[in-house]
Amino acid sequence: MPATVTRFAPSPTGRLHLGHAYAAKVAHDQARRDSGRFLLRFEDIDHTRVKSEFYEAIEEDLRWLGFEWDGPALRQSERTAAYSAALEDLRRLGVAYPCFCTRREIEEEVARMVSAPHGPEGALYPGTCRRLSENERNTRLAAGQQPAWRLDAPKAAAITGELSFTDSRHGRIAVNPGLLGDVVLARKDIGTSYHLAVVVDDAFQQVTLVTRGEDLLPSTHVHRILQALLRFPEPLYLHHELVTDEKGVRLAKRHDALSIRSLREAGASPADVVARLA
Ligand code: GLU
Repeated sequence: MPATVTRFAPSPTGRLHLGHAYAAKVAHDQARRDSGRFLLRFEDIDHTRVKSEFYEAIEEDLRWLGFEWDGPALRQSERTAAYSAALEDLRRLGVAYPCFCTRREIEEEVARMVSAPHGPEGALYPGTCRRLSENERNTRLAAGQQPAWRLDAPKAAAITGELSFTDSRHGRIAVNPGLLGDVVLARKDIGTSYHLAVVVDDAFQQVTLVTRGEDLLPSTHVHRILQALLRFPEPLYLHHELVTDEKGVRLAKRHDALSIRSLREAGASPADVVARLA
């Protein structure tokens, strides 16, 4: 059995708050318990939201909390060639198609449908561009229309057959390819997506145990499909609970008082903060 490799994967779009610290602690403790490796990865593909000062601020907060990571942090913004290669593989398999729809067109199409497919967070992409003929696709591409690329979920499922994944809190879960449907694999503006980048990098970094908040459980259905298509190993999962404020609202950037920096400035010690996470 290879040693446990976990990762903490924040986006450098703000300072760490207690929710991030909890996610970091789960990944850190799992790796240390098994004498494994704890990696840091910056999920910074969306350059419109990233701010350069947060790379260092996040590293500083992690060190202050005592969560030392192994090796240099990986930046997804430096990995675009790997994401393009994976997208190319998926296109060759015939499971990625160009989507020319605008957000508005998708909303209008969903509104017209009698029973539009829905996922955990609302309407799913209705598959409009999946039904374009090869000819229509080529005409639009030749006209210089820049597409997003989407997963052909039904076709992918036909290729992979039934899949499942194991989560240490939730047990063995059967993959439902329709849960998130034809997700975007590559956005028009950034050439990749959360789903594609995470799957490519978890394989590249040889992550054996993916720990993250349970809000991302639906995404894991997509990730297992991509892993199977790209012939990547299947990691184990631990989708942990989310940290909420006293009203039960999930922590976000607006909870500035619960940022690690604010707690520290208010006089808390790393031990106080870590004790609060436990
Ligand atoms: N960047 C994601 C987040 O901050 C983590 C995604 C993941 O762990 O797969 O929630």
